[in-house]
Amino acid sequence: MSEIKNSLGLENVGKIKRNVSIDQLIKDAVENEGAKISSEGALMIDTGIFTGRSPKDKYFVNQDPSNKYISWGNVNKPIDKKIYEDLRAVSLKQLNGKDLYVTDVFSGSSPSSRKSIRIITEIAWQSHFVQNMFIMPTEEELENFVPDFTMYNACKTTNPNWEEQGLNSEVYVAFDVEANEAVIGGTWYAGEIKKGIFSMMNYWLPLDGKMAMHCSANVGKDGDTALFFGLSGTGKTTLSTDPHRALIGDDEHGWDDDGVFNFEGGCYAKVINLDPKSEPEIYAAIKKGAILENVVADENGVVDYNDGSKTENTRVSYPINHIDNIQPNSMAGHPTNIIFLSADAFGVLPPVSKLTNEQAMYYFLSGYTAKVAGTERGITEPVATFSACFGEAFLPLHPTDYAKLLGQKIKEHNVNVYLVNTGWTGGAYGVGHRMSIKNTRACINGILDGNINDSEFETIPFFNLSVPKTLAGVDTEVLNPRNTWSDKSQYDESAKKLASMYVENFKKYLTDDSDFDFTAAGPQI
Ligand code: ATP
Ligand code: MN
Repeated sequence: MSEIKNSLGLENVGKIKRNVSIDQLIKDAVENEGAKISSEGALMIDTGIFTGRSPKDKYFVNQDPSNKYISWGNVNKPIDKKIYEDLRAVSLKQLNGKDLYVTDVFSGSSPSSRKSIRIITEIAWQSHFVQNMFIMPTEEELENFVPDFTMYNACKTTNPNWEEQGLNSEVYVAFDVEANEAVIGGTWYAGEIKKGIFSMMNYWLPLDGKMAMHCSANVGKDGDTALFFGLSGTGKTTLSTDPHRALIGDDEHGWDDDGVFNFEGGCYAKVINLDPKSEPEIYAAIKKGAILENVVADENGVVDYNDGSKTENTRVSYPINHIDNIQPNSMAGHPTNIIFLSADAFGVLPPVSKLTNEQAMYYFLSGYTAKVAGTERGITEPVATFSACFGEAFLPLHPTDYAKLLGQKIKEHNVNVYLVNTGWTGGAYGVGHRMSIKNTRACINGILDGNINDSEFETIPFFNLSVPKTLAGVDTEVLNPRNTWSDKSQYDESAKKLASMYVENFKKYLTDDSDFDFTAAGPQI
């Protein structure tokens, strides 16, 4: 322990609580942090002011030559080393003299690709979260543990100098990739830890020729691996949790020469309006060892999953072994199928379509979904989001770096790629309704069991997407979205509108690199 103490860079350290037991963490969280236990036995915590990530407060040290690969812009904002040193000093001042949870974990289930990560925090429930979401070393691995990367979470402090420093706010999530270190202040939201390390994996792996992906993954009985890419709320967690297929992971994966592997050791599911009938596995995962975030419960700890009064982003984190059907070691072979999930609130995209390799690149770089704007006072217009590679917020390198890697792998392993709309059908938000999970699952089953290969396909206007005319288990009328709209001309108008948003967004990828221009594979208006 004294070795760890000395390595933390703090003048004074209280007690070091390294990889302490979940029982102890629960006890500490209840005694010191106002946590409660739900009627299912899960730890219930509130994350404070922030119930989601603060992407505008994320920075990388701009220090040549180490950071020459980073794609600078709104997602990856540069700060001088001097400012990082200030943020570091603010963080260490907060942690100085405190009892600290030091949690040593792996990111990456593949021993040849994993990274050793040390997370330092004052907060017991954050250490519990880290133990749920990352991969826990064995005792032997812990003995020889040398961190590749260290993250100081000083969430109780804020940065007083942000204005002079020209930063966004008093909150900071700052990375120094050369020093292999990050500091967090001003936000307690533990998703910053999860997605912060994900960002680092997205930095390290591609530079090593390995793909890093914001996707879920599962594998069938015959060893056929499937990946599900998608932005938040599109169904990565919901749809990869399938009793008939072994879960590899629900959010972050790598793809190296041996196949697909999870970065994480746990899942992080949305629980707003959680319905035990349509998502029984996730519901059953809420028990001791799970952490419920920002949910509302009565005095007996009975949670009202329909209550979004603290946030709509209520979540549960649980170790992956809370799910029955999981893939041992969270690794599997090269994918057979890749599915891009878009929750299209315009109700334009078909529930399932098969993509050519060129379309796969186009839709991957576009990274589309649509959010439903505030549901108050009759605001019904959906808002389109385009986030490259279905996860631009977590990509330190340029999106085309990831697309090129994915494209090579798709070709090399002859992978089928599909686009699945988990959003609206029968009209846009306000008129139509969200596709049922049952129907979406039926579309996905058709892909995974290969039935879709027996279908006859037709092409839909503007998007030139190839849509099956029939598919076992799915109502034939819903397959072509135009059929589900009562007003066909309105469909055409909306389709044209969405198509032009795609076209507008894709202009940034018009490159001189004629081998890597996929404009022609996109919508044409
Ligand atoms: P994140 O990246 O934020 O973890 P995610 O892609 O994992 O997001 P999910 O947690 O799976 O998203 O969220 C999908 C939400 O949408 C769930 O709350 C689910 O119940 C709901 N839902 C409703 N209809 C569908 C559908 N047809 N397919 C998938 N999910 C649906
Ligand atoms: Mn998820």
